[in-house]
Amino acid sequence: MSDSFDVIVIGAGPAGYHAAIRTAQLGLNTACIDKSLGKDGEPAPGGTCLNVGCIPSKALLDASHKFVDARDHFPAVGINVGEVTVDVAAMMARKDEVVKGLTGGVAGLFKGNGVTSLPGTGRLLADRRVEYTSHSGETRVLQAEHVILAPGSVPVDIPPTPLTDDLIVDSTGALDFDHVPERIGVIGAGVIGLELGSVWNRLGSEVVVLEMLEEFLPMVDARIARDTLKILQSQGMQILLGTRVTGATPGKDGVAVSYQTSDGEQTVTVDKLIVAVGRRPFTDGLLADDSGVNLNEQGFLIVNDTCATDIENVYAVGDAVRGPMLAHKGMEEGIMVAERIAGSKPLVNYDCVPSVIYTHPEVAWVGKTEQELKASGEDYRVGSFPFAVSGRALAANDTQGMVKVIADGETDRILGVHILGPQASEIIAQAVIAMEFGACAEDLGLTMFAHPTLSEALHEAALGVAGHAVHMVNRKRK
Ligand code: FAD
Ligand code: NAD
Repeated sequence: MSDSFDVIVIGAGPAGYHAAIRTAQLGLNTACIDKSLGKDGEPAPGGTCLNVGCIPSKALLDASHKFVDARDHFPAVGINVGEVTVDVAAMMARKDEVVKGLTGGVAGLFKGNGVTSLPGTGRLLADRRVEYTSHSGETRVLQAEHVILAPGSVPVDIPPTPLTDDLIVDSTGALDFDHVPERIGVIGAGVIGLELGSVWNRLGSEVVVLEMLEEFLPMVDARIARDTLKILQSQGMQILLGTRVTGATPGKDGVAVSYQTSDGEQTVTVDKLIVAVGRRPFTDGLLADDSGVNLNEQGFLIVNDTCATDIENVYAVGDAVRGPMLAHKGMEEGIMVAERIAGSKPLVNYDCVPSVIYTHPEVAWVGKTEQELKASGEDYRVGSFPFAVSGRALAANDTQGMVKVIADGETDRILGVHILGPQASEIIAQAVIAMEFGACAEDLGLTMFAHPTLSEALHEAALGVAGHAVHMVNRKRK
């Protein structure tokens, strides 16, 4: 094998593997170094997303949702299935199979597209040289014309709750419980806390979520966040806001978690404690002292709008750079950098990054929230539509939530779309497309939507911006 490449990518998560595949497709001689190993000890490209993130969590969210549906909601639509039980081992085995299939798929795509896959660790040296250490410990120095750093992120630890083998775990541990614990504590009511809390709550655990902030989901539209909180609480999740965890003591009866609220110091004992307080860039050992690439105060690799670092022809993408830690954001950055290296000039539109929380109902949004617009004094109008009056949602017996469209008060251009509801993760794509094309609320209102669909709620909310929603009482039509 040659030691010289047009492009070397370090990290084969969504950001890195997209970059590597696209540079290879564009005719560049590409190598990708990745250190992740699967449960079988074999190289497992795909990063956090495929191995311990998006995919395994969604496998468990979908399975646990099906369980709740069968147990609690089938009778209402005329289906009786008798006692519904959970086989945790089978659920986990299926999840692991999905992960293995997909990481194997990335390995196959590397092979098919001509990416040289280098399992092991990469370290950036000066002058675009990369030190590659294989899993068996052999080290070689490779030379690249271009280097793309995509090392991703790892969970943040907090001093009061050091992880243990199996009682105090991070998100990775919480994807692998071998039984349904009776009582689970979750630190952090963020995306991971709510998704993994939902999984285990659905499967029968009593779940208590301890969140430091007074406000629930501050990044979400305030009305949607309020409704989400109520719905999750009605599903049995206990969510304690304004709660500072001060310690956790593992013992034979579980973990005694102490926390402080405005009422003083309290304690709760749980069988498992999940720490989900955020993620940090994973740059440990990535950069030699003279690599020239710089980190900011929070440890993120410093890049400009097009993901270029301070060193010419060295780029960084994904969770390890500024912006939301989302797989699709990293994928688009990986593609952008690959195409820029090959001579095109694409950009990532950071104003149109969709976010989703895969609870049920799902929460999805893109663009500005109403509270952001209020704070900046912008003129805006809002149209909203509840799923409670959507024909398709009623037919599916799945009516919680709403769609909210926010448009510029003067130009009618869509500024944000916020959804709480069934399949919000799918519906939000239509809002993203509309915003990418610079659509007005009226454009969406003039678009024909298939009936009956959940997407019609987006159509009606867009019509509602001008007070024209049909399935709402509105006597002041203009
Ligand atoms: P990563 O996926 O973290 O991949 C980085 C890779 O680089 C890893 O394989 C790592 O081992 C490797 N690496 C690091 N340093 C080196 C080195 N020096 N040498 C060699 N290899 C190295 N996002 C979503 O958009 N949707 C979701 O539904 C979603 N769900 C999630 C659920 C959970 C439980 C978690 C934890 C995360 C979830 N995320 C989700 C976030 C998502 O996983 C990340 O945003 C995404 O994986 C980041 O991609 P990345 O390529 O930047 O990094
Ligand atoms: P997060 O930032 O979403 O939430 C962390 C929460 O923990 C916050 O609410 C924070 O206030 C709270 N917190 C922090 N320190 C605390 C403490 N000491 N005590 C109590 N609460 C504390 O982070 P996360 O949930 O760990 O997720 C990490 C990243 O992974 C996120 O950036 C997210 O975008 C990504 N992710 C995305 C998805 C998705 O797209 N569906 C799913 C999972 C993870």
